[in-house]
Amino acid sequence: MSSGSTGRGTGASRRMCVFVRGAVQGVGFRPFVYNLAKRLGLGGWVLNSPQGVQIEVEGGQADLEDFLVRLQKEKPRLAFIQSLEWSYLDPANLGEFKIRESKAGGEKLAFVLPDIATCDLCLEETMDAKDRRYLYPFTNCTLCGPRFSIIEKLPYDRPNTSMKAFRMCPACAKEYRNPEDRRFHAQPIACHVCGPRLQLLDGKGAPMAGEEEALLMACAVVRGGRILGLKGIGGFLLLADARNAEALTRLRQRKLREEKPLALMYPDLKSVEKDCFVDALEARLLTSPEKPIVLLRKRPGASISDLVAPANPYLGVMLPYAPLHHLLTRELGFPVVATSGNLTDEPMAIETDEAVSKLGSIADAFLTHDRPIVRRMDDSIARIVEGREVLLRRARGYAPLPIEVNKKLPKVLALGGHLKNTIAMSKGKHVFVSQHIGDMETKEAVEAFQQAVNDFQKLYEFKPEVVATDLHPAYASTQFGESLGFEVHKVQHHLAHVYSVMADNGLDGSPLGISWDGTGYGEDNTVWGGEFIIPDGGRGEWLAGFEPFPLIGGEKAIKEPRRSALGMLYACFGKEAFEMRDLPTLKAFTDDELEWMKAAVEHDVQSPKCRSVGRLFDGVSSILGMRQKISYEGQAAMALEFAANGMAERIYPFDIKSGGRPKYLINWGRTLSTIIQDAKSGVGNDIISSRFHATLAEMAAKIAEASGERRVVLSGGCFQNALLVRNFQARLGQRGFEVYTHQRIPPNDGGISLGQVIATAEARR
Ligand SMILES: [Zn+2]
Ligand SMILES: [Zn+2]
Ligand SMILES: [Zn+2]
Repeated sequence: MSSGSTGRGTGASRRMCVFVRGAVQGVGFRPFVYNLAKRLGLGGWVLNSPQGVQIEVEGGQADLEDFLVRLQKEKPRLAFIQSLEWSYLDPANLGEFKIRESKAGGEKLAFVLPDIATCDLCLEETMDAKDRRYLYPFTNCTLCGPRFSIIEKLPYDRPNTSMKAFRMCPACAKEYRNPEDRRFHAQPIACHVCGPRLQLLDGKGAPMAGEEEALLMACAVVRGGRILGLKGIGGFLLLADARNAEALTRLRQRKLREEKPLALMYPDLKSVEKDCFVDALEARLLTSPEKPIVLLRKRPGASISDLVAPANPYLGVMLPYAPLHHLLTRELGFPVVATSGNLTDEPMAIETDEAVSKLGSIADAFLTHDRPIVRRMDDSIARIVEGREVLLRRARGYAPLPIEVNKKLPKVLALGGHLKNTIAMSKGKHVFVSQHIGDMETKEAVEAFQQAVNDFQKLYEFKPEVVATDLHPAYASTQFGESLGFEVHKVQHHLAHVYSVMADNGLDGSPLGISWDGTGYGEDNTVWGGEFIIPDGGRGEWLAGFEPFPLIGGEKAIKEPRRSALGMLYACFGKEAFEMRDLPTLKAFTDDELEWMKAAVEHDVQSPKCRSVGRLFDGVSSILGMRQKISYEGQAAMALEFAANGMAERIYPFDIKSGGRPKYLINWGRTLSTIIQDAKSGVGNDIISSRFHATLAEMAAKIAEASGERRVVLSGGCFQNALLVRNFQARLGQRGFEVYTHQRIPPNDGGISLGQVIATAEARR
C-alpha cells in the first residue's frame, strides 16, 4: 500500500515535481540533474520548456530531500536559480532517469517574476573595493533584484517600471545593451552614478545624511538601541537590536504589539546556526532565492532577547535579500528584529511620507531611498514540517507565480476571505494567487485590498467571467465582490479550503476534505471550523462536524479563550458549569462577569453555536490554565501545541453519533471531562496536550473510516500546527489512508482565494 504523498514513510517511493526558473538553460543544468539523480538512484526525467526546467524524480524520501538540497548547492557554476518550486505528487513508476526531448511549443507565458534575492555575483561586486558598484545598495542583474514590486505594467521593460525616472549612465547603458553582459536587459540596472540613492531622515522626516554616511549613521541608530525605519524591497521594515531588551520593550510599546513574535534578520547562515537548530532543508530554504522568513527551533542560550518571541520555542529568521540588507547586517554583525513597518492591522507603509507620518512615533530615524515601490510585498513565512516546505505567508519571492492545475479554467476573479486575505484569478490552466494582503480589520486594510484587486486586473488586463466570494454576507471582500457588477458565485469557506489543498496537490475527484480553523460562516447558521466535507462538482457534502457549543459573546470569544472554555463547559455540564469554581477558566472571571455569562448563555444572547476546532483548542488551553486572554490570533492554540511533549499513545474517549445533519457528529463531552479529571489528578499539561492532539487525529481517523474515501486532504489554520499534522499522518497513515497537506499555498486563509477559483470553475463545468 502506498502511504501517499506526505510524511516520512518507511522507505515508500514518492514522486517529487520540481520546477526551476532562471539561468538554467544552456549551462549544463540538465546533464547535472541527470547525474545527480543517477547517483542518488532516483527514477524520473528532466525537461527544458519555454517556461523553465521541469524535473520529476521518484525515490525514497531521504534521497529526494538530498536531491533538492544538492540541486541548489552543487549546481553548475553558471547556473542561477531564480525560483524553485517543488511539490509532492502521487508516485507514477517513472522508471530509469532520462533527459527528455525539449518541449519546443507551448506558449511563452508572460509570467511576472517575483522579487529575487541578491545573487552571489552581485553580492561579490558590492563587497569588492575594486568594483564600480562597491558598497552600492541597489546592485542587481538579469538574475536577481526587484521585479513584481517595481512593475507598473506589462511587458516588463524599464519604462514600465518604477526605474523609469532614473536615466542610465553610459557605463550602465553599455552593460544593458551588451548581449554578452550579465546585465543585458536587466531592467532595474543601476549604479552609484545613475541609480537610486540612500537618505537618512530623523523621526520627523528631516534629512540627516545621504549615501554611505546615511548607512553608517543608520547602523549607529540600531547599535545605540534605537529603532530604525528601513525602506526595503516591498515596504518599510522596523529594525532594532535583537539582543537589546530595552530596545525591544520600546518597539513593542510603541507598536502596541504585546507578545506576537517578531521576525529576525541575521547577517549570514553561520550566525543563524549559532542561535537555532537548522537542518539541510531549512538551510536550503533560508538561502534560497526566495529567502523567506523560516520558523526555526531556538537553541538554549541563543544570543537574542526573550522579548523577540515570548513563550515560543521557535524563531522566525531570514537572511539579507537585498544588497542594502547585506551592507547593514555586515556592518552591524548581530541579528536585528526586522518587523513590518505598520500600525496594528494596517498595511505596511511603502512611501517615505507615509512612513514618516504613520511610523514617526515608532522609529527614531528612517533609512530610505528614491526607488518607488509600486506594490506592497510582505516577507514570506515558511517552515519545514515532516520534510516538506509549508508556506504560512506567501508574498515576496513567491507571488505572483501561478499554480498550475490539470484542467482549463474559466476566467474567475476570487476575492478570498477576511483574515490573511489574498486574491486570485485564473487564466487557462493557471491560477495567479496574489501576495498576502492581510487582515481586513481596518479601513486602511480594506482600501489596500481594493487597490490590490484593481492592480491585479489592470496588470494582467483581466476581465473575469465570474467573481467568487465567501458566503459570509458581512465580509468586506464579499460586499466588494457584489459591487463589481459581474456574476457572483459564493463559496463556503471550508469548502474553499478543501479545493485549495486539492489544487496544491494536483488532485481531482472527491477525496475526504478535513477543514479545521478558527472561524467560518457555516451553512446552518452556526460558526464552522471543524468540518469534514466531500467536495463534488464545486459543492460539498457536509459529512461530519463537531457537536456545537455556545460561543459566549460571539466575536469577543476570539480574544478571550476563557469564553470558549465556559461555553464548552456549559454544553457538557449545563448550569453546573458555573459551579466549577476550582477550574482556572472560572477563576479568570469576576463574580459579576460570571453572572453576565450565565445570563447570556441561558437566554441565548450573543452566543452563537460554534463547531470550530480552533475554539476547542482555545477552550482546552483556558481550562488547563495556559491562556485566558490572547494578544494575537492563534496564541492560545499555539501555547497548547508548544506545551505538548510529543506524540501520545493514549487518547481520550469520545463519541460519534450518526443519522442527522451532518451525517456524523463528534461529541467531545467525555474528552473534556477526562481532561478535567487528568488535570485534577496532577497529570502535567505536557501529557494532556499530547493526548488531546492524538485524540483529534483519532476522531478524524474514525470519520475517515466511515467515509469510504481513501484520500484525505487537510486544510485550514489548524494544520499550521506541526504536531497535529504528525498525529494525522501517523493515525491515518497506519490505516492506509493517503494524507495530503499544503505545500506552496498556506493552509490558513491565505489559500481561500485559490479554493474559491477551483470551486467556482467546478460548479460551472
Ligand atoms: Zn545578480
Ligand atoms: Zn549607472
Ligand atoms: Zn479558514
